[in-house]
Parts: sequence; C-alpha cells; structure tokens
Amino acid sequence: PTATTRTTGAARPAAAATAERVRADYAALKARGLALDLTRGKPSPAQLDLSTGLLDIGAAELGPAGAGADHRNYGGLTGLPELRAIFAEVLRVPVEQLLAVGNSSLALMHDTLVHAVLFGVPGSARPWGAERTAVLCPVPGYDRHFALCEKFGLEMIPVPMRDDGPDMDEVERLAAADPGIRAIWCVPTYSNPTGAVYGPETARRLAALPAAAPDFRILWDDAYAVHHLTDEHGEHGEHEQHEQHERDEHGDHTPPGAPGTTPPGGAAPAPGILALCAEHGHPDRAFVYGSTSKITFAGAGVAFLGSSPTNVEWLTGHLSRRTIGPDKLNQLRHARFLRDAAGLRAHMARHRALLRPRFDLVERVLRERLGGLDGATWSRPRGGYFVSLDVPDGCARRTVELAAEAGIRLTPAGATFPYGRDPRDRNIRIAPTYPALDELETAMEGLAVCVLLAALERS
Ligand code: PLP
Repeated sequence: PTATTRTTGAARPAAAATAERVRADYAALKARGLALDLTRGKPSPAQLDLSTGLLDIGAAELGPAGAGADHRNYGGLTGLPELRAIFAEVLRVPVEQLLAVGNSSLALMHDTLVHAVLFGVPGSARPWGAERTAVLCPVPGYDRHFALCEKFGLEMIPVPMRDDGPDMDEVERLAAADPGIRAIWCVPTYSNPTGAVYGPETARRLAALPAAAPDFRILWDDAYAVHHLTDEHGEHGEHEQHEQHERDEHGDHTPPGAPGTTPPGGAAPAPGILALCAEHGHPDRAFVYGSTSKITFAGAGVAFLGSSPTNVEWLTGHLSRRTIGPDKLNQLRHARFLRDAAGLRAHMARHRALLRPRFDLVERVLRERLGGLDGATWSRPRGGYFVSLDVPDGCARRTVELAAEAGIRLTPAGATFPYGRDPRDRNIRIAPTYPALDELETAMEGLAVCVLLAALERS
C-alpha cells in the first residue's frame, strides 16, 4: 500500500472563491483578533495526561534492584536493558546494539554529527569537517535536521520525496557520483511532514546504495515508529506487509503486533535497516534513532540510538567522555510503565484516540475549503504528527504572512527545505496535535481563507 494519499484540488475555480467574498472573509478573520498556533508538533495536554502514571512509580519500585544494580547511582552508560528490550523490538535493532541515552533523539543526532565532523566515523579517511561533506535531504523534510547540517557546515542537497520515500533513482545517481556525499536523512515511518512511509524496496535500495563515499551513513530517524493513526500500520518490512496481506486474505484485520496478538506462526520480525545494510555488505551504514518524546513526556522521556557493533563502540567511546551515565531512574520508570512492546502499542492506541479526530478535522476543512482550488494538494497521513499542505506555486510565504496578521501562527514557509528555500514557495507544514479541537477548527478555517486570498492576489 502507498504510504500516504494526497488529495488534489479539482481543476476548476473554487465555487466560493470570488474575490469579494474571500476579501470579506479575510477582513472578518482579522477582526476576530485570534491568537492560535499551528507551528510545532507537540503532544496536547490530554496526551501528556496519558502518562501521568509514570510519576506514580515511587521509591519502592525504583530503589536498589534485586540483581544488585542501584539505579540511583552513576554508571550504566548504555542504558537500562529492560527498557532497551522494549524499544529494540520497535526500532528493529538487536538489544545489545541499542543505547538508551538522555531525553532527546535530536541531541543524539547532534552528537553523532559532532563526532563525525571532528573525528570521522568508522571507515572515514579523515574527519567529515576536514573535507567537503554533503548530506542528501529528502524534501519536504524536518527543519531541525537541516538546522544541524547548517550549524556544522554540511552542505545540503535536496532530493524529492515520494509516497514511499525519497526518489531513489536520484539518490543513487547523486551518491554514486559524488564521494563528498556522506549521509542521507531519513524519517522512515510517517515522515515529517508528508507522512510518507518508506517502502521495503526503498529501504533495500538505501542499504544496497553504491555510494562513492566509503563512510556513507543513513541517518534513520524513526521518530514516529509506533505513532499510527489507522489500523493499517506503516511498516517497512516486506515480510510484515506480505503477512498483513495474507491475513487480510483470511479476513483477519487485526494489525500485526496489536495488543494481545503475537505474530502469526511465531514469524520472525521483519528485518530492520541495520539487518538490510549488513545483508547488502554495508554493516556500518545506518544509525537508527528514536525516543519516547511523543509517547510519554516530550522533554522528560528517553532517547535511543541503535547501530552496528562497530558504530556503537565508536559512539560509546565518545559518549563515555561526555557523561558517566544516563538517568536510569527515568528509564526504569518508563520500563515499568510501558511493560513491553504490547503495552507500548496499547498506550499508543490511547494517543491515537486523541489524535485521529484532529487529523480528520484538518482533512475535512481542507477538502471543504480548498477542494476546488487548482494547485492545492495535501497529505492524508496514516500516522505521525503532521499534514503537509502544498498551496499554489508562489503562495506559501504570503499565506503564512496573511495568517500571522490574522493571529494564526504557522511554521515559516520554506522551513521544510534546506536553507529555508522552497523553490516553488508552496509547502506549508500543519501541526494539528496540540490545539484543542475547536481552536484547531478555527485555525484551519482561517488558514484556508489565507490560502484563497494569497492565491487570489497572485492570479
Ligand atoms: N525527529 C523527528 C522527525 C521529529 O519530528 C522530532 C520532533 O518533532 C524529533 C526527531 C525530535 O525528537 P526528540 O524529542 O527525541 O529530540
């Protein structure tokens, strides 16, 4: 199945989009003096409430463990095995190759790049910072990935994003020809912002990529690995998709791995990107990242990094200079609270119940208001935190400006592209998770008016 469906505006003028009507709507919008925010993908307070139980896990459960490890003390650099075991399954990384460190996966990506720039990664002839280093950036993409590259002087090369991942013909062409290209950013599940899910063939081609750089790395940021909005889970493994297909044939629509289910026939979990890379002769190619930021508490969660034994040794070598050990009490609390991968999935189902109405609302307003606007398309994600809206060419910046004047804050136009440069000035990232439903509806209706006015001004 394709990862995301795009709804396209019909090639006819919007019925209600007469110039006068749109201008009047915008004047009325401005007069309301709104103060709404659709910028950042944050969990709502109700979502955070789902994890209040974490804080009730008290001294009796967090004190010295039976095995003798005292989690209140220094040490345990690689993180708590119980918690790593839960996320090893989710991120498809062998538990001994998965680190639980700190509270932010973005910080781990930052650190990976710092060490690469200063020292190089295993297989580098020289530090990445000592020669021209470029990173492939599927676009539209995550602005904070781009900000890291910019900060470290890594050149960014945009690659178009498709429904099943980046344009792999382009990735192969570029990476094979240019030894300066040393990495690619990937958000494989419910990509930020388009919601695309990398297909098995995309993952295979990335693993097999004939890169000119011997130290090429895949920065596999699986931030939304368990953040489903439907029953049809976005998974990259050929086996799981096949398995789902077979199960559908037999009328079984329970998602694989749903709470209370086990893989049919005890099937082995689908291979992750690390296994695929090893299979294709590039065992050290991928770094896998994840966190509980949008599972428990954003900012008070746990982050994960998985890679090959060689890369993990490289990283822990650097990490051991940076810290004596992570916050194991928080990790233990998370392990007790989530219990196992099935417990994690059950918890995510409660998030989904809160999130799904928000995404449905965004889809409804966009369809009703922009369904007739030529050049307007948007993603219908099956998971993750964002909706990617393309407005008619040349209208994104103006839309964001008009919205700001009407008290609706949007992510700056261009943010989803390296250096903030959207060549067609058309992409806007919508983050519907945080506002209350009625505020979201007001903001989306207002946004639609701004899009129509921006399009009108350009016509
Ligand atoms: N990666 C992606 C793709 C994200 O969208 C986000 C947050 O929006 C992050 C990483 C941040 O993760 P963390 O909170 O673990 O630093």
